[in-house]
Amino acid sequence: MFTLINLPYNLGALQPVISEQTLSFHYGKHLQAYVDNLNKLIAGTEYEQMPLEEIVSKSSGTIFNNAGQVLNHNMYFTQFSPVSANNHAPQGVLLDAIVRDFGSLDNFKTEFEQKGTTLFGSGWVWLSAYKDGKLVITQEPNANNPITKGLKPLLTMDVWEHAYYLDYQNRCAAHLQALWDIINWKEIERRYVAVDMKG
Ligand code: MN
Repeated sequence: MFTLINLPYNLGALQPVISEQTLSFHYGKHLQAYVDNLNKLIAGTEYEQMPLEEIVSKSSGTIFNNAGQVLNHNMYFTQFSPVSANNHAPQGVLLDAIVRDFGSLDNFKTEFEQKGTTLFGSGWVWLSAYKDGKLVITQEPNANNPITKGLKPLLTMDVWEHAYYLDYQNRCAAHLQALWDIINWKEIERRYVAVDMKG
C-alpha cells in the first residue's frame, strides 16, 4: 500500500517558478490519482509487497504506468526548495562529475533543456548515473524511469503539459529554464553519493 509522499515545503513555497495552483493540482490531484490507481491495481497481485523501484523494474502495462509515474513524481517533488534557499548550485564531487562529463555546468543545463524541449509527446528528461559514476542525460517517454536502463536517476524535469501549462502555457522552454532556480542540489548530491557508495 503506497501513500502520497509529504512535500518538504508548502504548496506556495516554489512561487514564482511553480504556482501554488499548479502544485496543488500536480501533487494533490495527479500524483494522488497515480498512487490510488497503483494501490487498486496491485491489490492481491505479486506486486503488492514489492518496493516501488522493483515494481517499475518488473511490471508492464497499466501497473508499470502508474508505478512509474509515482516513482517519477516522488523524485521530482522531493528535489525542489524555495528560490530563497542557498542550495541551487551543484558542488563538490557532483559538480566535478558534471564538468568532466558535459564540459561545464552551463553546457549541461543547455543540453538538459534541449533534451526536454525536443522530447516528443509526454515524458521526462533525466540526469542519471551509471554504476561507475559517469553521468548521462536521457529522454524517457510517458511513465518510463531510467532504472529500466540500469541507470541511477538523480534529477528530472516533468515535460507532461500538466506540469507547466497553467503557469507557462505552451512555453515549455521557459518553464524548464526557470526550474534551475528551485533545484535543491544538496538532494541531487545525496542521490549521487549513494550511487558511488554502491560501487
Ligand atoms: Mn507530472
